[in-house]
Amino acid sequence: MNTSYGNVFLTPVEYLKGIGPQRARVLKTELEIFNGGDLLNFLPFRYIDKTKYYTISQIGDTEADVQVIGRLGRVEQIKQNDRVLRLTAEFFDSTGKIELVWFKGFTWIQKNLVPGQEYVIFGRVSRYMGRITMAHPEMETLAAHQSSPLSALVPVYSSTEKTQKSGITSRVISLAVASFFQQAQGQIKETLSADILQRENLMGREEALWTVHFPKSIEELSRARRRMKFEELFYMQLTMIRKKMIRQNKLSGYVFHSVGDYFNDFYAHHLPFSLTEAQKRVVREIRHDVATGYQMNRLVQGDVGSGKTIVALLSMLMALDNGYQACMMAPTEILATQHYNGISKLLRGMNVRVELLTGSTKPSKRKELLDGLLTGEVNILIGTHAVIEDNVVFQKLGIAIIDEQHRFGVAQRSKLWGKSAFAPHILVMTATPIPRTLAMTMYGDLDVSVIDELPAGRRPIQTFHKYEQSRLGVLGFMRAQIDKGRQVYVVYPLIKESEGMDYKNLIDGYTFLDEYFQRPKYNVAVVHGKMKTEDKDAAIKLFASGKADILVSTTVIEVGVDIPNATVMVIESAERFGLAQLHQLRGRVGRGGEQSYCILMSGNKLSDDSKKRLEAMVSTTDGFKIAEMDLRLRGFGDMMGVRQSGITGLKIADLSRDADILEKAREVAAKLLFADPELNSDVHLVVKNTYNSMLKGRALWSYIS
Ligand code: ADP
Ligand code: MG
Repeated sequence: MNTSYGNVFLTPVEYLKGIGPQRARVLKTELEIFNGGDLLNFLPFRYIDKTKYYTISQIGDTEADVQVIGRLGRVEQIKQNDRVLRLTAEFFDSTGKIELVWFKGFTWIQKNLVPGQEYVIFGRVSRYMGRITMAHPEMETLAAHQSSPLSALVPVYSSTEKTQKSGITSRVISLAVASFFQQAQGQIKETLSADILQRENLMGREEALWTVHFPKSIEELSRARRRMKFEELFYMQLTMIRKKMIRQNKLSGYVFHSVGDYFNDFYAHHLPFSLTEAQKRVVREIRHDVATGYQMNRLVQGDVGSGKTIVALLSMLMALDNGYQACMMAPTEILATQHYNGISKLLRGMNVRVELLTGSTKPSKRKELLDGLLTGEVNILIGTHAVIEDNVVFQKLGIAIIDEQHRFGVAQRSKLWGKSAFAPHILVMTATPIPRTLAMTMYGDLDVSVIDELPAGRRPIQTFHKYEQSRLGVLGFMRAQIDKGRQVYVVYPLIKESEGMDYKNLIDGYTFLDEYFQRPKYNVAVVHGKMKTEDKDAAIKLFASGKADILVSTTVIEVGVDIPNATVMVIESAERFGLAQLHQLRGRVGRGGEQSYCILMSGNKLSDDSKKRLEAMVSTTDGFKIAEMDLRLRGFGDMMGVRQSGITGLKIADLSRDADILEKAREVAAKLLFADPELNSDVHLVVKNTYNSMLKGRALWSYIS
C-alpha cells in the first residue's frame, strides 16, 4: 500500500488501519488530518497518569487527576423530599479519608459497588467545605486492577463533538498511529544534525515521536517532548536569525555620519533633565546603528515612565542633523497630540518645524503639511496611522519611530519602508513589558534595547485593592489628594461585548462624581470613545492644564498619556482588566515627584484568576515581573500583540513554560549560523535540508532527503 504513494507520509488517511472513509472525512474536516504524516504529528495534548498511586495524605493541593488505593465505606443517599440528589461514600486508606460523590447513575452504583471492598479509584479531587471530594471517580476493584495492567500513561488526543460522535476515541487514534508507525518504520527522517543531538543530549526523532505517542514513563515522555520542543524552537529561531542576518547584510540604510547642531544644541540647552544611564546607553546603541550603513531595526523596551519619548526625540534629531526628516507614529490621536505638544515644547526656540497629522487634521492644514513634507520644510511629522497613508510622501525620510508598537501590526511596520527609496531606520518603542522569551520570538528579527531604569526621584506607586463597601473611604482619599493640589484618574472598563452597559456605568460614575465633587471648588471631566474629537481634546486639555481635578474615562488614556500632577489612579471593576492593561493604566500616575496611588476597585465575587491578577498588582510595580505573571496566567497566545505577530503556530512548545529550551535552541541556532551562515558544511546538511523544506511550507515530517 505504502509504495504506491512514494512518500509513505502522504498515504491518505482513509487507507490507514481502523479509520475508513467515514471517519476519514471527519478527521479531515475536524482535525485537519489528511494523511499518515498528519496523524503522526497529531500529538496527545495530555496523558492520564496511572503510574503513580497517591495515599490520601499525599493528595494535598494536587490539581491533577489522582489514583488512590483504598477501601469503600457505606454508600449513602442524600435526598431532598423524596428525590435522591446525590450519592456519597467515604473512601479511606491508612492515611485518611476522602468523600466520593455521584450525581447520576445511582442504580448502577448501588448495585455494583461493594462497601468494605478494596478499590483503585481515579479522578480529579476538589475541596468542598473543608473536605476532599472526588466526583464520579473511575473505579476498579483492586483485584481487577492488578490482573489487567493498562498502559500506565494513557495518551489523550483532542477531540470535537463530531469526532466523538464518529467514535474516534483516543484509543482509535492510538491504534492507527501504532499501525502507521509499522508502515513508516525506518523512513522517519532525523531533522537535527548528529552533533546537535549528541551535544544537547536529545533523543532521536523516530524514537521521540514514538515515545510521545506511547510513553512508558514520565521521565521518558519528558525527554521525548523536550526533543520535539527543541526541534520546533530551533527551526523557529534559525529562521528568525537568518532573516535578521539577511536584512543586516542586504538592506542598506541611510548613514547618519555625524551628530550635529540640532542634537548638540538640544542636548546642551533644551534638555530639561539629565538622562538616566539607561537612556544614555540606548541613545548610544541607536547612534551606533544609524552610522553603520545598514538599516536599523531596533526595539526599545522600557517600562511606563522610563522616558522613551526623549530617546525618540534625540534619535530624530540625529536624522535632522544629517539632512533627513523624521516621523513618529502613535496608536491613538490623544497620544499623537500629546507627543506633538510635548515635543514642540521641548524644541521651542530651535529652528525645527514639527507638524501633527491625524484623522481629524483639517483638509487645508493637511494640504499645507503634505506640501511641506515634499519640499522638506517639515522636519518632524508626528501622527497616527494617518502618516502611513499612501499620499503622505516625504522628501527624505530618514527615521521612523513607532511608539507603543503592540497596536501596530508587522505589516504596518514595513509599510513605512515603502516611504523612501532606501529603508528608513526604524525604532519601535514599547512599554508593554515583554518577558524575555516572548521578546526573543516576537521580535527575534529586531535588535533590542532596554531602558531598565526609571528617572531618579520616582517613588514606587502604592497600590490597594478595595471593595465597594470602602467606596466612601476612597472618595475621601481622592478629596484629600485633590485638596493637596493633585489630580485623579477614574477609569472604567469598556469591553466590546458589553459596550452599552459599560458606557452606562461610566456615565453613571461620572454623574455621581460630578455631583459629589461640587463646582466651583472641584471640576470633573469625562472622556470616552463616543465623544467627538474636539470634545475629547477639550476634556484632556482641561485635565492636562490642571483645570479639572478628576478625569473619568475609558481606557483611551491607557497608553502614553503624561500628566505628572496626577497622583491617583482609580480603576473601576478592576477584575475585568487584564494584567498588562492594569499595569499600563497604573503607569499613568507616579510620573512626578509626588507619592502616587493606584486603587483597584472590584466586586466582591472574584474568580481565582482575577484574584491573582489583583494580588499581583498590589504586590509589585515591576513591569517585567507582571508580564511574567501575565504569561503564566493567560498563556502565550493571549498576550498582547502575540496574535498579530503570527508566531502562535507552535505545536508542542509552550513559551510560558519552555523558556529554557527556547534559550538553548536560540543559542545553538545562532552558533551554527555564525559558524556556517549558508549551512554549507556537510555536518549541517540535515539542518539545511530541513530548513529549506520548511521554507517551502512543508511540515517537518514531509521532508525527504
Ligand atoms: P514613557 O517611557 O512611558 O514613554 P515618557 O517618555 O513619557 O515615558 O517619560 C515620562 C516622564 O518622565 C515625562 O514627564 C518625562 O519628561 C520624564 N522624564 C524622562 N526622562 C527623564 C529623566 N532622565 N529625568 C527626569 N525625568 C524624565
Ligand atoms: Mg510613551
